[in-house]
Formats: sequence, C-alpha cells, structure tokens
Amino acid sequence: MPRLSPIPAPTSLAPQPDEAAQSASTQSQSKKRELQPAERFALRVGASTIDGLGVFAEEAIPVRRKIGELRGESISVREARRRAKGRARIHIVEVSETRAVDATDSVTALRNINHCCAPNAVLRISQGRVEFYALRDIEPGEELTCHYGESHHEGRLSCRCGAANCSGKL
Ligand SMILES: [Zn+2]
Repeated sequence: MPRLSPIPAPTSLAPQPDEAAQSASTQSQSKKRELQPAERFALRVGASTIDGLGVFAEEAIPVRRKIGELRGESISVREARRRAKGRARIHIVEVSETRAVDATDSVTALRNINHCCAPNAVLRISQGRVEFYALRDIEPGEELTCHYGESHHEGRLSCRCGAANCSGKL
C-alpha cells in the first residue's frame, strides 16, 4: 500500500463549511466543469461527526461500484512529503514511488473523505489515479469513509471514527 493521506485531522486548519462553500463557488466556473466526471454519484460535502468536513452520498451507491476519483495537482513524492509536513489536514495521495496527487486546491468532493476504521468505501490506486469504490451498499445521506492505511500523519493523530474496532490512531 502506498503512503497516502486524503487526511483530515482534528481541528482548526480546515475551512469551515461556509468558507468552503464560498471558495467552491468562486472556483466553480472554471474548475467544476472540468472535474465533473470525477464523481459517478451525487455527493455532498458537509459537516462530519468524525472530523471537520466530510463527504456524503446524496443517492444510493451499490456495493462495488466506483464512486469517483480524487483529482488534483500532480506532484513528485518528494514535494508531497514537503507539503505534508506540518499540515493538520492533508489532501495528498501518493500514487506511485515517484508521483503524488495533491487535491488541496481541487473542488473534488472526495478530497473530504474521512478515515474510518470500519469504512464503507475503499481507496484504490490505478494507473496514477486515485479511485474510490463502495465496500457495501451505501444509503443516501451516509457519510463516505475509507481506511487511509499508512498516512503522512504517521500515527500522530487520534482517530474519532467511533467504529467498534477503532484503532484510535491515524
Ligand atoms: Zn477509528
């Protein structure tokens, strides 16, 4: 598993919901059109009970279906690790030994996916793309979650996912 980190962390650096909505709308003219196919199902970004913002299903997503992709700036792994340092919220996924995707400035809803120790979605790297698939049938209104695996946070953050098997760390 590559080191990855779509990775929200507790607290303050993330935009608050209205701030996020504002920046999304200012970017929407140029970016939303080009990024639209990134999502196969209707998704919504909103306040999460796990951490900060989360991404929620707006319609039912059947098990094993592709939910969408995380898109962003293509950067080197070296640059990714430099950027990840000291950030509480990291939206970077390493997609190979040398390349990473930084979705920090992307409007892709899936960049807000939270970690859960008992997730309903899985992140897969495929030919440099970061894809999410449903691990089970997901109901409208459910928050989407995935297991971050090894992350840039390197176990420094506590997990608040609330799953019965929660490891307590990210
Ligand atoms: Zn957990």
